[in-house]
Amino acid sequence: MKKKPLITVSEALQIVLEHIQSVSTEALDLNQCFNRVLREDLTIPFDSPPFDRTAMDGYALAGESPDLTYIVTSRIAAGSQNSVPLLAGECARIFTGAPIPPGADRVAIQEDCIVENDRIRVTHPVEASSNIRFRGEDGRAGEQALSKQTILGPAQIGVAASFGKAALLVSKQPLVWVLSTGAELAELGHPLQPGEIYNSNGPQLASQIISCGGRPHLVGILKDDLAVIKNRIQEALKNKADVICIGGGASVGDEDYTRPALEACGFTVHFHGVDLKPGKPTLFATNGKTLAFGIPGNPVSHLAVFALFISPALRALMALPPLNPFVAILEAPWKGPIDKRDRWLPAFLRRDGSKLKISILASKGSGDLIACRQANVMANIPGPVTSLPTESQVAYMPLAND
Ligand code: AMP
Ligand code: MG
Repeated sequence: MKKKPLITVSEALQIVLEHIQSVSTEALDLNQCFNRVLREDLTIPFDSPPFDRTAMDGYALAGESPDLTYIVTSRIAAGSQNSVPLLAGECARIFTGAPIPPGADRVAIQEDCIVENDRIRVTHPVEASSNIRFRGEDGRAGEQALSKQTILGPAQIGVAASFGKAALLVSKQPLVWVLSTGAELAELGHPLQPGEIYNSNGPQLASQIISCGGRPHLVGILKDDLAVIKNRIQEALKNKADVICIGGGASVGDEDYTRPALEACGFTVHFHGVDLKPGKPTLFATNGKTLAFGIPGNPVSHLAVFALFISPALRALMALPPLNPFVAILEAPWKGPIDKRDRWLPAFLRRDGSKLKISILASKGSGDLIACRQANVMANIPGPVTSLPTESQVAYMPLAND
């Protein structure tokens, strides 16, 4: 019987995205909102600036003066209220941010004013409206300011703060349980016994989850045992995990329990096998709103599967739209054997002026984590391609968000 062709990476990603409902929201203290996803539209609550204010230190002037002199009648510091109205020919000493007093229509900067007892003389006529930030000139009450799906960076947090918002409605951080399966795995900090390797995938995945806005829960190492893995999946469901990542055991060998354990816990498998190298046995399943990924144990497969499927899934869970593919320019020529799979290889991306340049790192395969020591992206080389000249366009996916 002819084998069914494997689904492509983009078909697999489509299937993942079709099964995602965004996580619920929480009202979060504004000081905790950095990098969170806004889930409410924010309108400007009052005219901005809220009152006419001076942009500079100097003198607020009442109209023009034929001899360029004004009598100083008051002093207005930032934050002062109820300033005294000015009459024609009068001025007020004024400091940046202070309200423009009634009657004043322009501000002369102090560098252009010569003080003569209780008067000032401006060195040249000052145009009406000079150095005044007028009420509402930046935005009017009721206008749209920030919209849903905005990632809250410093500027957006500043905008919300300028409206007096002490809290914002944001996406909860998706809770991601990480199960690392394998009888050969040792916990960090313990001496290696013969036949053991350290569980590098757990911390590696946790860092990727954090960078994408998720909240990792590291369960640690599980034996290759159906009952043990099943128990932990059930525990993850009880704890309302949004995503369960099961590392290792994703294939169909005698010691591979990811699929049977998920099915025994009521999960429906939507795909198991993708035209992808490394990462072919990748599995995706859901139980209600909970997503599960079976990730082949090799560390480079983990890097690729996270970048290709789990990072986009976390975005969608937080109610962000999908990203367009990224493309960079190849920095040095690449040569390799033909492959039947779509390859995603560890690579180093750097900014060179306005260009993004990518170098594919020499690697011995999906177990070669040392080859990834410089990696910050996975680069796509389609299976039939055997060589790429410098300056070729190469698609890539980041290992983590900036
Ligand atoms: P598996 O997918 O379970 O067949 O594992 C494939 C390869 O990845 C094996 O060489 C494992 O020893 C290795 N591996 C599995 N889990 C981990 C892990 N958590 N950290 C590092 N290597 C792992
Ligand atoms: Mg294993």
